[in-house]
Amino acid sequence: MPIWSVMPKKLLAGAIGSASARVMISSVVKEEPLGIDEVMDILDEPRVVIAYSHELERATAELKAANKRLKELDRLKDEFISTVTHELRTPLTSVRSISEILYDNPDIDAAQQKSFLGIIIKESERLTRLIVQVLDFQKIESGKMEWEISRVDFREVIKDAILSTSRLIQDEKVKIESNLPDSFPLIDGDKDRLIQVMVNLISNSIKFCERDQGVISINLTAKSDHLKVDVRDNGIGISRKNQKIIFQEFQQVKDTSTGRPPGSGLGLAITKRIVDFHKGKIRVKSRPGKGSTFSFTLPL
Ligand code: ADP
Repeated sequence: MPIWSVMPKKLLAGAIGSASARVMISSVVKEEPLGIDEVMDILDEPRVVIAYSHELERATAELKAANKRLKELDRLKDEFISTVTHELRTPLTSVRSISEILYDNPDIDAAQQKSFLGIIIKESERLTRLIVQVLDFQKIESGKMEWEISRVDFREVIKDAILSTSRLIQDEKVKIESNLPDSFPLIDGDKDRLIQVMVNLISNSIKFCERDQGVISINLTAKSDHLKVDVRDNGIGISRKNQKIIFQEFQQVKDTSTGRPPGSGLGLAITKRIVDFHKGKIRVKSRPGKGSTFSFTLPL
């Protein structure tokens, strides 16, 4: 039997016993009956003990929940290390083998050389992205991120993010459209981090759309006291159950047929933390096979 279910009863019995004993002893020692206030004070002690025992029960339940969460985080961290190791090894292996082919075959024709070099560039970018994500997450978690706040035009943020992902858009032959208002109020925020939010959402949309078939649309609207951004795609979608976990660090959705998707599972965790820092809210609406819409708000 758990200790906390026994302890309050024992404490209570002890407290009532000691309170009654003290009433009797005080009467004998003083050789006169105790005043009603004194008796009430002494008899009030069990009530304090009951309150204390409830507090104890609550704290124990909290500790149990925290312990469960820590165990889960520990498991996820182990999984994360194997994911990151895999994510580092895969591009490194291809960079190395392609470099060896180029080194061993100096006469290889120019077109082939160019295509090999293209792969090296892409894989190096993938490596850089992973390292930047891990470092960013660590900086945010340890409170060491240096935020640079200025007046930001969110239409610029969206345009810059589309520009940063243009190569991916071209490679995957995705159609991307953005509906941006002609004029838009400025917000206070860290422009580079907000671009990072948009880049993460756009890259995920591209990643989870079928090649050649992807359509992504970005909407920006101003409400009374906040702006709203929607990034909608026609990709594989996310089940209700998985929608609950994808904003947590290290979480990826594993598919029984395709296995683990590429990435570190940190993209949305970082995205959510950046939105949270700006006092906004992010959520997803999706159904498997029916695409996903990631929407977030930021105060104006
Ligand atoms: P990563 O950095 O590995 O891409 P994220 O945190 O960005 O991880 O995303 C976590 C998981 O959420 C992904 O592995 C994927 O399963 C799911 N996900 C995110 N965006 C989309 C999307 N647009 N469509 C379908 N699934 C998505």
